[in-house]
Amino acid sequence: LSPVPSDVEISRAQVPKPIWQLAEEVGLLPQELEAYGRSKAKVGLALLARLRHQPNGKYVLVAGITPTPLGEGKSTVTIGLVQALSAHLKLNSFACLRQPSQGPTFGVKGGAAGGGYAQVIPMEEFNLHLTGDIHAITAANNLVAAAVDARILHEATQSDKALYRRLVPTINGVRRFSAIQLRRLQRLGINKSDPGALTPEEVSSFVRLDIDPAKVTWQRVIDTNDRFLRKVTIGQAPTEKGHSRQTQFDIAVASEIMAILALADGLADMKARLGRMVVGSSRSGQPVTADDLGVTGALAVLMKDAVKPTLMQSLEGTPVFVHAGPFANIAHGNSSILADRLALKLVGEEGYVVTEAGFGADIGMEKFFNVKCRASGLRPDVVVLVATVRALKMHGGGPSVSAPGLPLPREYTEENLKLVSEGCSNLKKQIEIAHLFGVPVVVALNIFKTDTQAEIDLVCRVAQASGAEAAVPCHHWARGGRGSVDLARAVKEAAAWENGFRFLYSLQTPIAEKIRTIAQKVYGADDIELSPEAQAKIDYYNQQGYDTLPICMAKTHLSLSHIPDKKGVPTGFILPIRDIRASIGAGFIYPLVGTMSTMPGLPTRPCFYDVDLDPATEEISGLF
Ligand code: ADP
Repeated sequence: LSPVPSDVEISRAQVPKPIWQLAEEVGLLPQELEAYGRSKAKVGLALLARLRHQPNGKYVLVAGITPTPLGEGKSTVTIGLVQALSAHLKLNSFACLRQPSQGPTFGVKGGAAGGGYAQVIPMEEFNLHLTGDIHAITAANNLVAAAVDARILHEATQSDKALYRRLVPTINGVRRFSAIQLRRLQRLGINKSDPGALTPEEVSSFVRLDIDPAKVTWQRVIDTNDRFLRKVTIGQAPTEKGHSRQTQFDIAVASEIMAILALADGLADMKARLGRMVVGSSRSGQPVTADDLGVTGALAVLMKDAVKPTLMQSLEGTPVFVHAGPFANIAHGNSSILADRLALKLVGEEGYVVTEAGFGADIGMEKFFNVKCRASGLRPDVVVLVATVRALKMHGGGPSVSAPGLPLPREYTEENLKLVSEGCSNLKKQIEIAHLFGVPVVVALNIFKTDTQAEIDLVCRVAQASGAEAAVPCHHWARGGRGSVDLARAVKEAAAWENGFRFLYSLQTPIAEKIRTIAQKVYGADDIELSPEAQAKIDYYNQQGYDTLPICMAKTHLSLSHIPDKKGVPTGFILPIRDIRASIGAGFIYPLVGTMSTMPGLPTRPCFYDVDLDPATEEISGLF
């Protein structure tokens, strides 16, 4: 239709096929499906064992140039591409997307189901509770937080003996360690399994985690943009006997448990990673883990359904997995390895799995390769790099583009070849970054109705001259899959080539050198500058044996550099590393380049103003 109706109107006008019908079409057996209503279902991981001999399909990553704050259409391109591959080229294909956080849905950005005629339906269900994974993560995360503070209180108010009696109770007259307690004893170097055999010193080191309240790194989470929780004081009731401390809430998707969900390769691996999560350190500087708190089993129980990807469909009835949605700065911003794996098996050797990386290619794609592919062992066949004329004009010196809903300055609605031409420097650089990893690049120019033919031709010419294997205008937003058929053909062709995929650095390289490699080769920095805090952390991580983990940079996505206003391809800068943190369960180290907000706030007029429900029809309006 022209003009294109709103996303929710388009979504509602299409009746999704029953999820069990879609499941049958993609080759799932009834027992592998757990339906949540009519249009979404979880898929059991036993499928991986059933299809273990099936060769994988082609693996396509959608990344983007440095975006405007409005987003340049990576999700939309992902859906448009699978719609073109499946519905128009008749090739099996699957899209793998991240589950959006409810915070932005009601805050500034709105939903993340794609848009126009390239979206996941029903978009209300996609954008809201889905199948409860984020709620499960919130519950698990906050159980750890509660365990930390309760443990500090109990240790402060009880003797070694009393703690021991309670932690290792007598059941039917026998005192026995649980499996998790035996693991803790092993870590302490106490090789005794008889609770009666511990010396008083051993009892003391066993029962006392001695968590330093000032060094607790674990935060509470909630899936709402609630800025007033950025700093809170807990433990103010008299029952907590003065054990109050300042802490903070993060948005739920910033939880390390979300990053673990995205990187785990099964329930056992997820459980092991949950146990390794470091929640803080003891007064003597030793890391304290979820395993030390005895909470690992309970976390695995809370997360046992979340580990299964959710099957949904695109507007044209093609399959989509929605699974995990880690932050793209303090975490790696990619959907789950498990969803990609299941999809690669389901599409078969001739099929395609299209998965999306958050932010621009300098961040999302770099982490997709160096963190996600390293963990999964999967190798991508093609990178689709999404560009828009709008973002290129911004890189060429156009005025700043702020929040959705506001009218764009004239430069963005009228032809301006000079701005586009200058802004193509960013596109060229992002193509070079993808080539560093040895993977072919197809540029998808996401067409907006104000783009002119001369602007479109210019971008495609520059992209090809910059080494992209192909560059194609895409009209999926206005036309659905048939608007992306050229992109689908270009991807098919590029996927047929031999590619020489390689990582950017070896894990054995020292931490500072790994950071320097990313800063220089990917961002174009002259060098890095480590703060004294960052250097001290490197020393500590070396001492703890964390130095062989991959790096997950926490940098702004609005510039290749650390300064959001520097557009195009900034040069002559030193990348400051303010601090370095570690997600040991997820398995990466994350250097902080500048300050990262892990709890967004609400603007004066948040998206929720437009969201409404008609009680008579139960129809939702205002989500976009
Ligand atoms: P990203 O995944 O890169 O953040 P999205 O695919 O979510 O971007 O798109 C951001 C917003 O822009 C969505 O609301 C989407 O509907 C809208 N959008 C994307 N492509 C177009 C287009 N070609 N024309 C108009 N709006 C678009």
